[in-house]
Amino acid sequence: MEFADTPADAAFREEVAEWLRENVIGDFADLGGRGGSGDETYGFEVRREWERVLGQAGWTCIGWPVEYGGRGATISQQVIFNEEYVRAKAPGRVGVLGEGLLGPTVIHYGTPEQKDRFLPPIVAGEELWSQGYSEPNAGSDLASLTTRAELDGDEWSITGQKVWTSLAHQSDWCFVLCRTEPGSLRHKGLSYLLVPLKQPGVEIRPITQLTETSEFNEVFFDNARTHVSNVLGEPGEGWKVGLATLSFERGVGLLGHLLSFRREFDGLLHAARKNGRTTDPILRDRLTKAFVELEILRATTLRSLTGVDGPAAAPEASILKLFWSSWHQNFGELAMDVLGLESMITGPNYDLNSEQRTFLFSRSETIYGGSNEIQRNIIGERVLGLPVEPKPQSGGAP
Ligand SMILES: Cc1cc2nc3c(=O)[nH]c(=O)nc-3n(C[C@H](O)[C@H](O)[C@H](O)COP(=O)(O)OP(=O)(O)OC[C@H]3O[C@@H](n4cnc5c(N)ncnc54)[C@H](O)[C@@H]3O)c2cc1C
Repeated sequence: MEFADTPADAAFREEVAEWLRENVIGDFADLGGRGGSGDETYGFEVRREWERVLGQAGWTCIGWPVEYGGRGATISQQVIFNEEYVRAKAPGRVGVLGEGLLGPTVIHYGTPEQKDRFLPPIVAGEELWSQGYSEPNAGSDLASLTTRAELDGDEWSITGQKVWTSLAHQSDWCFVLCRTEPGSLRHKGLSYLLVPLKQPGVEIRPITQLTETSEFNEVFFDNARTHVSNVLGEPGEGWKVGLATLSFERGVGLLGHLLSFRREFDGLLHAARKNGRTTDPILRDRLTKAFVELEILRATTLRSLTGVDGPAAAPEASILKLFWSSWHQNFGELAMDVLGLESMITGPNYDLNSEQRTFLFSRSETIYGGSNEIQRNIIGERVLGLPVEPKPQSGGAP
């Protein structure tokens, strides 16, 4: 693992930093880098405009191949971009699901027509996407999903309910896993449909979170429509395509995330010094431990990306997910203890401070993207070779 930039990477870093210096100005700079997890609604319209500015300058989708509008950036360049982005306090991105999940899946499974239709608006920051996988009775056990779709002339008709659909209320499209073969069980008979959200058959109800904002939603499909051609991969092969999407969540974004964590840590250390909490031996110990763990997390993430030119391998991805989400949750608790009584202030006319937002939102981080228990199962079974956990009997799953 090499920590220092190569000369080419150093030049790339300077190019990114310079562009950001020149463009994170005015309303974009006023956001102060806000708009991340737990803060998604903050300055949304300005951030949407920023996505277009990024797109016009060729700074969206930089890891995609050049032929699809990307820059074909190497992993180290993507890491550098994410680091400089956070350092410049550039606005929280609104196009991450299109760029990080749907786009790579279209590149892999899409027909030429689907690539022409769906990739350019993602690159341009013009169309936003959401992910319709989870349902009230299908989360960790996703293969239990029951939302169904059937062909009606040259359209799919979709009926059912998704839940926890992040950013659906701000999105134009949703990639939806649904059952297209009546009577099929578990992972068989599913299809991966691309569904426009702005239509009468779709009702989106935002769910208010602990942070008092609404990042995610319930999405109801009642005879919602999409054209017959908007199926990614073959009908009935949705499980395979759906898993491919999940594998595209890889570590480069995590390094940017870790830089945000470092900024949060520095802010907390500053607050601890200011309110005299650094004399408390227990808090000193916890602050030091948090710092050391964050450094280990960064080194482990860098190592997982070394020599990789694709999605992180499943066991490593699980270890990192378990590690960062637990670290951030512990950090949120530490932040509340450092703030002391101040941490307890809330109310209708009170804007939560960043430590409070971190504390509250980090509760969800050990759940989404595969809960801690699911990650431990993967590590136990695939890394340690422990006995496979018994599968539920319901549904007669193969
Ligand atoms: C902030 C946030 C954003 C999200 N965004 C999206 C989105 O955009 N699109 C989308 O489709 N979904 C999204 N989700 C949903 C997320 O994928 C699910 O919450 C997750 O898969 C867990 O499913 P569940 O909530 O149904 O919990 P369940 O699967 O019902 O789990 C409940 C509890 O049981 C445990 N458990 C379940 N199975 C096992 C097992 N086999 N062994 C041991 N323990 C087990 C879990 O760890 C958990 O503690 C989001 C969730 C959150 C919190």
